[in-house]
Amino acid sequence: MVDIIATPSPLQELKSPLFERKGLSVWVKRDDLLHPVVSGNKWRKLKYNIQEAQGRACSRILTFGGAYSNHLHATAGACAKVGLSSVAVVRGEETLPLNSTLRFAAEQGMHLHYVSRSDYRMRYEESFQQALLDEYPGSYLVPEGGANADGVRGCKEIVEEVSMPFDKIAVACGTGTTLAGIALALNPGQQALGFSALKNGAFLDDEVAALVASEGLSTTQRNWNIQTNYHFGGYARVTPELIAFMQQFYKEHGFKLDPVYTAKMFYGVWDMMGNDAFARGTTLVLVHTGGLQGLKGMEERLGLNFYAE
Ligand SMILES: *Cc1c(COP(=O)(O)O)cnc(C)c1O
Repeated sequence: MVDIIATPSPLQELKSPLFERKGLSVWVKRDDLLHPVVSGNKWRKLKYNIQEAQGRACSRILTFGGAYSNHLHATAGACAKVGLSSVAVVRGEETLPLNSTLRFAAEQGMHLHYVSRSDYRMRYEESFQQALLDEYPGSYLVPEGGANADGVRGCKEIVEEVSMPFDKIAVACGTGTTLAGIALALNPGQQALGFSALKNGAFLDDEVAALVASEGLSTTQRNWNIQTNYHFGGYARVTPELIAFMQQFYKEHGFKLDPVYTAKMFYGVWDMMGNDAFARGTTLVLVHTGGLQGLKGMEERLGLNFYAE
């Protein structure tokens, strides 16, 4: 059992005049507090993958991601903690100096294997994967974002840790793996809301259905839906409105959101509350999936400071 990180993560109630006006009870599942390095849903998705790698006596994890990837950051940190080596297949050419995400990964001992953007598109092809496994023997392959059945399994525990009754649970989506795990763990009558961090997020509905089905459950009873209108221009794009929301949220509630995922979900929920999308008396749980390591990278890239005092 890989228990390098203590769970459960805290469940925190938020207070706001808006919730009172709308008759809502709002809680945040603080997976961002799980660990400073291996934070949020990336740990949930890695846990059983690491256990599987150890069970198969693999000496390293080989995985995939972009240069600012929360998944690469978490994989590097988790592997270092459990004594596994790690290899990252990184999309695009090497850029020096390394950005803060890759610098951290390299410091943890992760080997960075760069591939062109066109080669990266072959990451799900067996021949491409086999060539990598030949180059790095003894590797256990984890797909980009930890998007496999073991990743789904770990994410069920987000819901299993919430002991109080609730009606709806909201989470930001990239691959939909976290949403699939959450949906699988819900009780009858509960519903999961996914918020796509990508433009054209409608495809996520099928991805989630496939991941749910891979766990052997029927997908005829869809207990989730995907909100596709809160992508703010697409993956890793931000707007002044989103940044203003993050700053206002921090002032009111005292903790930070990341601009790629969680800020878009929280913004979306606030917008839906404003539009009376939730009946009075609804209890909502919002999952803070972490991702705060990515703040630094985005600040470097955009030359701005999200949380300047
Ligand atoms: C990766 C990530 C997500 C998306 O998770 P999926 O399982 O790929 O949908 C959401 N929030 C944060 C902070 C992430 O890093």
